[in-house]
Amino acid sequence: MKSKALALTLFMFVSVSSSEKDPPVYTKAEILGDFDPAKHKGFDKLRSKYTTKEKAYLRDEVYDAFKKMWKDARRDGVSLVIISATRNRKYQSGIWNRKWNSFGGNETDRAGRILQYSSMPGTSRHHWGTDFDLNSLENSYFENGEGLKVYQWLTKNASKYGFYQPYTSFDDYRDAGYREEKWHWSYYPLAIKFQRAYNHIVGYQDLKGFNGWEYAKSLDVINNYVNGVAKIPSSVSLKD
Ligand SMILES: [Zn+2]
Repeated sequence: MKSKALALTLFMFVSVSSSEKDPPVYTKAEILGDFDPAKHKGFDKLRSKYTTKEKAYLRDEVYDAFKKMWKDARRDGVSLVIISATRNRKYQSGIWNRKWNSFGGNETDRAGRILQYSSMPGTSRHHWGTDFDLNSLENSYFENGEGLKVYQWLTKNASKYGFYQPYTSFDDYRDAGYREEKWHWSYYPLAIKFQRAYNHIVGYQDLKGFNGWEYAKSLDVINNYVNGVAKIPSSVSLKD
């Protein structure tokens, strides 16, 4: 980053965070996924026993919490496998643009349909290094047999390690956003910091450069999708 841009980013940080009890500690680039997790400070590459991916990355603290959860799950006969972890904006743009080009229909509807399960580039929690997908991208997997056992274990135990399921089915609290994703789990102690920071420093001017970006504002993706997450279970343990 050029020094002028860096100074501006730092200035914005200081100016928006001075009134906050819990100031944002991440850069705008980190919040928007504009970095390479393979080279970025604070990220670890996951060992192959934890993931199906050849290369998968999480923030150190998230990885440490996951390893503890993985071990305890295994002791209980439950196998947790990360099938997707940190995805940067460039990668997410690839997913989004492929869907954009293959989905038919008018463009506003098209963006809405992609958004049922996929994030607009720049709005994904996978950018933050705090979230990952486990075992299967089908809710049905988690509804019987082995998958149900995994899901029941997670709903009972994940909060002890700081994890929760942000995309639950809709209810009075969560009435907008992605459909339910039983596979997507988030490390609350860090993710909440990213979400707060997002709301302070990201605007629709930052969500550009992909097919259909102009619908981000009319679909109000920040309010409906970035903030369209479940309530934190009271059992989630917060270290700080
Ligand atoms: Zn996910």
